[in-house]
Amino acid sequence: MQRIAIIGGGASGCFAGIQIQELSKSSFDISIFEKSKEPLSKLRISGGGRCNVTHNLDDPELLSLKYPRGQKELRWAFESFQPKDTVEWFRSKGVVLKIESDGRMFPITDSSETIIDCFMKEIDKRKINLYLQKGIQSIFLNEQADSSVFKLTFEDGTDDVFDIVILASGSNRRSWKWMEALGHKIIDPVPSLFTLGIETSSITSLAGLSMPKASIRIYHKGKWQTSPLLITHWGFSGPAALRLSAWEARSLFEMNYKADLEINWLGDINSQILEETFYQYKEDFGSSKISNKKVPDFPTRLWEWFLSESQIDKDKKWIDLSKNDLRTLANCICHCKFKMNSKGVFKEEFVTAGGISRKDINFKTMQSKIIPNLYFTGEVIDVDGITGGFNFQNAWTTATLAARDIADKLKIT
Ligand SMILES: Cc1cc2nc3c(=O)[nH]c(=O)nc-3n(C[C@H](O)[C@H](O)[C@H](O)COP(=O)(O)OP(=O)(O)OC[C@H]3O[C@@H](n4cnc5c(N)ncnc54)[C@H](O)[C@@H]3O)c2cc1C
Repeated sequence: MQRIAIIGGGASGCFAGIQIQELSKSSFDISIFEKSKEPLSKLRISGGGRCNVTHNLDDPELLSLKYPRGQKELRWAFESFQPKDTVEWFRSKGVVLKIESDGRMFPITDSSETIIDCFMKEIDKRKINLYLQKGIQSIFLNEQADSSVFKLTFEDGTDDVFDIVILASGSNRRSWKWMEALGHKIIDPVPSLFTLGIETSSITSLAGLSMPKASIRIYHKGKWQTSPLLITHWGFSGPAALRLSAWEARSLFEMNYKADLEINWLGDINSQILEETFYQYKEDFGSSKISNKKVPDFPTRLWEWFLSESQIDKDKKWIDLSKNDLRTLANCICHCKFKMNSKGVFKEEFVTAGGISRKDINFKTMQSKIIPNLYFTGEVIDVDGITGGFNFQNAWTTATLAARDIADKLKIT
């Protein structure tokens, strides 16, 4: 019987193991090796302990746009396994997922334990060997005339051989080193999904305020990211800031997280349109104080901050504002500049951009193009998504593709 080793008892490793047994409808010798005391530890703390399993988006093309790295490859992979398949898989195991207003999907219990229990039951039922505190030290390829086997050495000094290996070790420098030694290119890992720290600015006194639709970019060439934006004690967070951190992960790393940021607090409303709106306000509400009749959607304290930044007395009436005042205010709102000086920590989710080069992987099967019977799943690959359940979806999709190929192979042999 062919022996299968899965390196890493995280989301993609456990899902791959279960799927191989499920798809092949017979019991294979599958071992999951996890270096820590418990499996699925990242999944346990994910989504603030609720586990944002996937996203309610069932269009492979639109879905693939959520991945700053891996877009092209995942476009086709999602044709085979996308969020609706994830939802159906969990439903078939008795786990119901619910959709939140922003599209994120969580177990209806609001607890990641539900997902862990589901995986543990399946691992048990399908007689998969799960070894804990059994870290892999290294991996070698023992080439033989007709077929090759993988020799795994463990941190406890033992070793064993396997016919098929799935590397599901997440973002892990040591495993990238092994893969480099086996001929794979490794794309330098850099952090993604972080908050943006800025140089001292009075805006941080408004920590906790947010705008529902703001745009942010690296001034002046970066791509705008439009989403809710949150002001924090150090700078900015919320979906727009996290998206910027994902799309610009590599350029911000190269700039040592020092960059000029530009924010349009009204998303895609440009300064000319805003200026025209102000003229309308001047006409309609001329006798009102500017601090009382603010542009809809602005929290009062933020509006007052814009007035102060534009050096406009908040006790002035709309009628008293000059053309220059209105232009300055519109520019302050639509072209607001800050100096980013650091990368912060986003507790709910962070991932690594970089890893095993996508060029070295066949994305129909997740098999290495260099070494047959070696597969990659999840975050170990140079693929990462924005926040919202997309990173787990990558884990489920890549694990499924690997499992299908292995199950097919085992049926033949
Ligand atoms: C705090 C936090 C919250 C998150 N929340 C979300 C969320 O809500 N939704 C979402 O989509 N994504 C979320 N993510 C991202 C998501 O957790 C990862 O994308 C996902 O876990 C990747 O799965 P994986 O199986 O590839 O790697 P992992 O889940 O990291 O699993 C890899 C496993 O391999 C083991 N391992 C490593 N090296 C060895 C070795 N040498 N020998 C044996 N075992 C080894 C590790 O101990 C680990 O258990 C979050 C990430 C973090 C850090």
